[in-house]
Amino acid sequence: MSVFLENPIEYLKGVGPQRGELLKKELQLFTFNDLLCLYPFRYVDRTKFYKVQEINEELPYVQLRGHIIRSEVIGQKMARRLVALFKDDSGTIELVWFQGIKWLEGKFKPGIEYIVFGKPTEYKGRFNLAHPDVEAVGEDNQKLNSALQAVYPSTELLKVRGLDSKGILKLQQSLALLIHNNIPENICNSVIQEFFLISREQACKQIHFPENAELLKKAQFRLKFEELFFLQLKILQQKNTRIETTQGIVFTRVGDYFNTFYKEHLPFELTNAQKRVIKEIRSDCGTGKQMNRLVQGDVGSGKTIVALMSILLAIDNGYQACLMAPTEILAVQHFEGIQQLVEPLGIQLALLTGSSKAKERRYIHENLENGTLQLLIGTHALIEDNVKFKQLGFVVIDEQHRFGVAQRAKLRDKAQIPPHILIMTATPIPRTLAMTLYGDLDTSVIDELPPGRKPIKTMHLGDNQRLRMLGFIREQISLGRQVYVVYPLIKESEKLDLKNLQEGYESLEREFPMPQYQISIVHGKMSADKKDFEMARFVKGETQIMVATTVIEVGVNVPNASIMVIESAERFGLSQLHQLRGRVGRGAEQSFCILMSSFKLSQESKLRMDTMCRTNDGFEISEVDLQLRGPGDIEGTQQSGILNLRIADLAKDQQILQYARNAAQKILNEDPHLQKEENTILSQYLINSTKHRVNWSKVA
Ligand code: ADP
Ligand code: MG
Repeated sequence: MSVFLENPIEYLKGVGPQRGELLKKELQLFTFNDLLCLYPFRYVDRTKFYKVQEINEELPYVQLRGHIIRSEVIGQKMARRLVALFKDDSGTIELVWFQGIKWLEGKFKPGIEYIVFGKPTEYKGRFNLAHPDVEAVGEDNQKLNSALQAVYPSTELLKVRGLDSKGILKLQQSLALLIHNNIPENICNSVIQEFFLISREQACKQIHFPENAELLKKAQFRLKFEELFFLQLKILQQKNTRIETTQGIVFTRVGDYFNTFYKEHLPFELTNAQKRVIKEIRSDCGTGKQMNRLVQGDVGSGKTIVALMSILLAIDNGYQACLMAPTEILAVQHFEGIQQLVEPLGIQLALLTGSSKAKERRYIHENLENGTLQLLIGTHALIEDNVKFKQLGFVVIDEQHRFGVAQRAKLRDKAQIPPHILIMTATPIPRTLAMTLYGDLDTSVIDELPPGRKPIKTMHLGDNQRLRMLGFIREQISLGRQVYVVYPLIKESEKLDLKNLQEGYESLEREFPMPQYQISIVHGKMSADKKDFEMARFVKGETQIMVATTVIEVGVNVPNASIMVIESAERFGLSQLHQLRGRVGRGAEQSFCILMSSFKLSQESKLRMDTMCRTNDGFEISEVDLQLRGPGDIEGTQQSGILNLRIADLAKDQQILQYARNAAQKILNEDPHLQKEENTILSQYLINSTKHRVNWSKVA
């Protein structure tokens, strides 16, 4: 960071101590550099003039040129406002102010031509402009001589002090006059040349005062690239450091458990993707470095068997393993499934959850410590402090997004040498997002479903087609299938949602009366015992219909359930819909997913429904999800820091991210510690920006 850029913000012309305080508080702008990096979120074309006639609701902003033929203050109290009638040769439009009336009153002169700029809003069938900018032609509207005028974020408090978008633009102008030769380059020459980057100084100028659209694009590209490039450099360096410094357990052999299981007890042929991932894990565990691997695989892609085979590898090498699931239901399911599979091998395993009895716990604690127990399956209970292993070597975390980083660390601490960690997630995230979110992990993808799966057929019905849905369910039940009916449960409207669920349950009871039909119901407000009881009835096939909230979302496996009905489907996000749908399609029968929604849908909801009907591919769905919601709403992004990006947008800038990642990787491959002459510029910048960040958080 140059000395110039570290200047406190209040030193800038037009700021001073009071505004300075406000800028720090409201926008976290402490230095010149912070202001420089306060990038516009939009640009408006101030060369374009509209006619009053042309105004429509599609236009976010319009610039008009004409006369103000009269203005008056009308209304009382809250409704008191200044209304001016603006006219050009195509028609008239009202300009309205609710604030600053005193200052504006009587200011507009009939003989003068004005340029008016504002956002059209519709009121009682007519458009008006509320709080527009008004300037007399020739006044000083040449002063910010950029055709594309930057628009900045601001806050109410700042606006009161004259620091609305335009006020900030003026500060940017003061700053722009000073930056010449003060913005040092921070990217090495080879990369600049490879990607045709404009200089940093040039980019900083053009981003705030673009001379034209083309230069603006180049500036945006340069700054986005720079941001993502340094982020990737940091992530990849962290990964290198982890690999260099943490010693890992070496699994030297593939032993009897693994081989016997593979040859004699594997219930099916592994898919190529499963084989590949198991190979990757095996090779990781042989390097002497600790493995931190994330396996992404769509629902039903068969992650469990991959985990189990890896666990067998650990046990073959004399180590203990554990498998942690996010819910009790899932832990039990894993336990039962795995117990069955490893029965013939004589492996000692146990289940530990929040509801394990004291006596069981004692048994488990004892036998983990003396090494008798080889595999422990359970929930969060696994990381309780009094759970001690004799020699923990391998940890599997299923559906990781429910586990925090701290919890993972706790697990790691349960052994002298950190155990290998395998994280499995069924929430596919776009590839480019994964590079950042999981950039310091190794990732594997199971991108192939077991053979013979029939793709789930998905349809979207309006509420007026309910009878059709009910008829379909009845028919499927008569064929021996089971059905899920899922209701949304969203915190704010919890009461209402429970009522919907209850009513839905009752109306289904009327449609499907006992004793011919049996219906289970499961929701978050039930006791764990009751939930398990209802769930178990459904698993055993004693009930045909399971009415539930999203508690069944993750991992539950009932192969005979082949119909998923999702009520108020428009209220679910795409990844949630996809997770829910993944509960069916697990058996040999054709499965169906029926999305029920109201008839009138927003465009976004419609796109979600259409996407669900079009594809079963979780990765494709995650891409659409990212485009719709942005990265902020995607699981795991909150802790990752990617939301602090100042200009790059991981939804829109995937291509740039890929370039940046490749460039960073290439440099680190050749020069892992950035010690070469031409790369010192990079390490310098990284060090400085980290330092800068630290100061920053202290102040804030
Ligand atoms: P997920 O990846 O969602 O955790 P699971 O591991 O639960 O998937 O597997 C889903 C189902 O597919 C299970 O019933 C499992 O036995 C079965 N399965 C897994 N791999 C294969 C395979 N290679 N061939 C056939 N069936 C498989
Ligand atoms: Mg699973």
